[in-house]
Amino acid sequence: MNDNADQLIIEQNISLIRQRIMAACRKAGRDSADVQLLLATKTVPAERIQLALAVGETLTGENKVQELKEKAGVLDSLPVERHFIGHLQTNKIKEVLKYVNCIQSIDRMELAEKLDARLQFEQKTLDIFVQVNTSFEESKFGAHPDQALSLIEQLGTLKTLRIRGLMTIGLFDADPEKVRPSFRLLREIRDAAISGGLLSSAQNGLSMGMSGDLETAIEEGSTIVRVGTAVFGKRQYPDSYYWNENK
Ligand SMILES: *Cc1c(COP(=O)(O)O)cnc(C)c1O
Repeated sequence: MNDNADQLIIEQNISLIRQRIMAACRKAGRDSADVQLLLATKTVPAERIQLALAVGETLTGENKVQELKEKAGVLDSLPVERHFIGHLQTNKIKEVLKYVNCIQSIDRMELAEKLDARLQFEQKTLDIFVQVNTSFEESKFGAHPDQALSLIEQLGTLKTLRIRGLMTIGLFDADPEKVRPSFRLLREIRDAAISGGLLSSAQNGLSMGMSGDLETAIEEGSTIVRVGTAVFGKRQYPDSYYWNENK
């Protein structure tokens, strides 16, 4: 496919996603300005990401530090906010910090403490989301819902980390109604954290919803939907490649 055709397809796909976001907000009685679109760009070459940025998008998410590194040459000079949305190993902390504005996958104190130490050394702060495993599936990362509040409380003691809210992947199912309880649980945990004083009312972000279930996520309060396939097309690797341990 040539670049012009690809540009057109990406532009149309983004326009469709924007319409879906607006329709879902209207239905839920929410302001669409309160829902951000994050482009999930795993496996997508930098040149194609650039096409999406040319349409006016400004927020991307990567799952692997290696991919951030490979695409940095092209993307570093562009106005883009990059988030890390994949499983983060502690030995990649130094590297990931070269590229991202935010890490959405903070799910354990060991990781957070090492991140905090590195940030102190660099005299920087970083936006984060606390990832919760709302589907109770073994193969997915994220803090167990029962431990989420205590993790949030402990994270509050690390001064370099600015919690923006919570993130979840949710149950992996093509039926959005089956995923809804995951989204609802994340919202309930956030609400409990705010009413318990562990988070301020400004730390109310909910990063949830993907190509197949963003409407449901918006109904349940999502403030960031993370969309890959519906913008860039099907990926070559199954998502388990990105979501499972030791990959
Ligand atoms: C791949 C991915 C997405 C996007 O999924 P799509 O179904 O392609 O929209 C969202 N969040 C995370 C963490 C992902 O790895």
